Amino acid sequence: MSSLPVLVLNSGSSSIKFAMYEASDGQRTKIFEGAVDGIGTDNGKFWIKDDAGNKLVDQTPALPNRSVAFSMVADVLHSGQFPAPKAIGHRTVCGGPTVRDNQLITPKLIDEIESYAALAPLHTPIAVYIMRESLRLFPGIPNFAVLDTYFHRTMPEVVTRMPIPDEYAKMGVRRYGYHGISYESIIYQLQPNIPEKLIVAHLGNGASITAIRNGESLDTSMGLTPTGGIISGSRTGDIDPGVVIFILKKIAETTPDATAAADKLETVFSKKSGLLGVSGLSNDMRDLREAIKDGNDQARLAVDKFTGTIAKWIGSFYAELGGLDMLVFTGGIGENDIASRAEICSGLAALGIIVDPEKNNVRGEAVISADGSKVKVRVIPPAEDLMIVNHVVRLLNNQGE
Ligand code: ADP
Repeated sequence: MSSLPVLVLNSGSSSIKFAMYEASDGQRTKIFEGAVDGIGTDNGKFWIKDDAGNKLVDQTPALPNRSVAFSMVADVLHSGQFPAPKAIGHRTVCGGPTVRDNQLITPKLIDEIESYAALAPLHTPIAVYIMRESLRLFPGIPNFAVLDTYFHRTMPEVVTRMPIPDEYAKMGVRRYGYHGISYESIIYQLQPNIPEKLIVAHLGNGASITAIRNGESLDTSMGLTPTGGIISGSRTGDIDPGVVIFILKKIAETTPDATAAADKLETVFSKKSGLLGVSGLSNDMRDLREAIKDGNDQARLAVDKFTGTIAKWIGSFYAELGGLDMLVFTGGIGENDIASRAEICSGLAALGIIVDPEKNNVRGEAVISADGSKVKVRVIPPAEDLMIVNHVVRLLNNQGE
């Protein structure tokens, strides 16, 4: 295969991140990465840097909307300053119940994904917008959807089924699971020595944890949406349905329209809860660690809730896997927050999980378990963009068959 420039697009509510790789036989080289950040503000950021960290573009444009933001990305890629992409991979959080495989994006596929937007209202509208714009602005270039749910396709029905009436299950309400591209990238990096019984904790702004048997997802904490599972930056995680009903009724006192009330409820559960909600301070672990140093009890409570919940999930996945060979931490907190890793593992010695404080005193890739720990504990940064490139190359090769 000659060298193929592959663009990776990863769009969120206020940013579009992108990266360009050269893919050739077995080789993947990152050429540059960049982002348009602060969409919806007058003082956005638009930057591109090469793999050595040199800034190639560094601007502070007004970014009134997503259209302006994405046009900037397209313009710079068409300018001749950089290699033009020959294929594009879109990180796609959720394709709904019918779009389960990574595949070529067509207008029909976008419509299909959009028809289930109600199942992932915070992610799907953004994803389908960027897909349509990408087909329009990069005509003739194959675009592929690479799904965060794809890795979890191996979960058994007893895990994916929600305990709700069939009528709703048939509408696609089920456990999908997220962060799948990150989990796949951990398996990819562990090759060829993939442990039989593995738990990976992806702890970033959004946080989830997955039980993996022989490299395949067995169970995961996130459910229908990324709001489920363990608590994270500003999301509740799993919560007693009674709390949902109580807060919804409170909101309905001032917002009688049911859809408007549900939207407000969604904001409470996905943007105002979790570490932010409990601490009343921040969704960012670094801020909370600083506040704890200053004696802030609410910050301490929020972090204890976070680490304690993760420890409980590790315990339940241990039972589900029937033991454990390896525990991997990844994501911004998993890679960098030494104290979180120590606190999560502090009560897990009975499961054979013992972290060595000195080995744990690192940021980034490391083995942090003590010599006598039955379970190996590792820190591995995710390589999501690389996984997306791998899927794009595989799908392109399949197309040619
Ligand atoms: P996202 O889910 O948005 O990709 P990240 O994986 O970048 O998020 O993780 C963001 C989280 O990582 C934040 O809570 C942040 O505080 C935390 N984090 C990043 N660097 C550090 C650090 N040096 N120490 C502690 N926490 C950190």
